[in-house]
Parts: sequence; structure tokens; C-alpha cells
Amino acid sequence: MFITTSKTELLNFLNQQTKRQQTLGFVPTMGALHKGHIELVKQSKIQNNCTIVSIFVNPKQFNNSEDFNKYPIQTEQDITLLNSVDCDVLFLPSNNEIYSNDLEIDLNIDSLNNVFEGPNRPGHFKGVVEVVYRFFDLIQPHKAYLGLKDFQQCLVIKTLRDRYFENIELIFCETIRENSGLAMSSRNARLSEQGKILASNIFKVLKDIENSFNKIDLNGTINKAELVLKNLNIDIEYLSLANAKTLNPSNDWQKKDENVVLIAAYIENVRLIDNIKF
Ligand code: AMP
Repeated sequence: MFITTSKTELLNFLNQQTKRQQTLGFVPTMGALHKGHIELVKQSKIQNNCTIVSIFVNPKQFNNSEDFNKYPIQTEQDITLLNSVDCDVLFLPSNNEIYSNDLEIDLNIDSLNNVFEGPNRPGHFKGVVEVVYRFFDLIQPHKAYLGLKDFQQCLVIKTLRDRYFENIELIFCETIRENSGLAMSSRNARLSEQGKILASNIFKVLKDIENSFNKIDLNGTINKAELVLKNLNIDIEYLSLANAKTLNPSNDWQKKDENVVLIAAYIENVRLIDNIKF
């Protein structure tokens, strides 16, 4: 695996690849890699000749400095994992390398930014857009691989792609879960074993909501799910049904395949998000 911290070195390497007409698949990450990330890499390996993973803990997308400071960093372990799936390139830029120049991005994400993660994490999506723009602009991949675990982020990045990067194909990948149903996340490392068991209830209530699609009234179903989690001392930030295309929150079931139920909740002071589309 070719590893570099430098944009210039990366570009030299990628230019050689594109001269040889290699297709480039790109997987942006913040590291502390787990099976969810690795699944994105595997998909890229199948669909491209050259797969690039970036690891960059982007300070601009953290609205909470404690969360940023506690974000796990385990580069050696990440390199071993990436080598085990034959990843071609690892880009490990510093903050100065990424934010070396000013940038004006003219993108209206207001409707997406006004719901769910937007108001709860002020500035988060602006930070995501800034960093993904810089990566897409630099790397110009043929395909970029994103996890549906971050459902709202997928829609924000799609808006960015539609506006500036129409040649990049976005591949949205299903959420990879523990056997218990808990969505894999780098933040799970901060949970105790007991916390992980508790956290598996998040997926259980999402499944209950999915299973009551069009059978039971939505409000009753959501209220029951909230009660189950509250009784377990799980602190819910939001739990709501929305239209999967617009993310407009809804009090009514949407058409089949257009429902998404999204949750953010705290367990042991760790903020967890999850969703199911159905
Ligand atoms: P992160 O390192 O958390 O920024 O995530 C990097 C990419 O991996 C994003 O596109 C995430 O949506 C994706 N991802 C994170 N967790 C999972 C998971 N459990 N299953 C699938 N994709 C994931």
C-alpha cells in the first residue's frame, strides 16, 4: 500500500494510475477503522483498479471539542487492516495540508441542515462539505463510497456532488452491524461491554418501527419506542420518521421505500446515531 501525508505525492501517484487508465475508488474516513469501513473498501476494490482511503479527523465537523479530543486514533492498527484487504493507497494528511488555502463553496443545504443532525450539531455539515469538497477536488475519483449509517450525511454529500462533481458516482453502502444489531462505529470503542449491550436496543426499536409499517399508527409506535429506551435510561436526542428523499420529518407513514426512521441517543455519554430505511 502506498502511504502518504502529502497532496503532491498523492497527485503524482494518482496521475500515474490515471495514465494507465486505472479507475479510482475513494473511501473517506476518520480512521479507527472497523468492519463497516472495511466493507466500503472491499466494495471499492471490486469496482475499481485502484482504491484510496483517506484518514483525517476533520476538526471543522466537530461541534464539540471534547468529542474531537476523545476521537480514537489508531493509525498502526488501521494500516494493518487496510493491508489485509489490499487497499492501494492511504492518504493521511495533516490539518495544514488539507486547509492550506481559502475556499468559497456556494452550496445551499438549508433544508437538510434544519433537521436531525443539523440543529443538534451546529456547523457539522458545513465542516463535512468543506472537507469532502477538498478531497473530491484533489482526488477526482470515479466512485466514492459512503455508509448509509450516516444517512443525512449521504444526502448532504449528494447535494455537493450534484452541484460540483457530476462525474463522481456515489455508492451508498448498507450499515454493517454487530451480531447484536448495534451499528458499528468508531465511537463504540468508548462504550463499556454493558453499554454495548444496552446500545443494541437502539436497533431493536428501529426494527419494531419498521415492522409496524402501515399496521399501527405511527405516533403510537414512536411513543412506545421512546418509552422502551427511556426505561433503559437511554437519553434520546431525536427519534423520528422522515421522508427518505427530503428528510422532512413526518407524522405519517410515507410510501413504501420512502420511510426512514432516524435516531440519535446518548449512552455512557457517547453519542450514537442509527437509522433504517424501509
Ligand atoms: P467515519 O470514519 O465515521 O467518518 O466514517 C467513514 C465512512 O464509513 C462514512 O461514509 C460512514 O458512513 C461509513 N461507516 C461508518 N460506520 C459504518 C458502518 N457501520 N457500516 C457502513 N459504513 C459505515
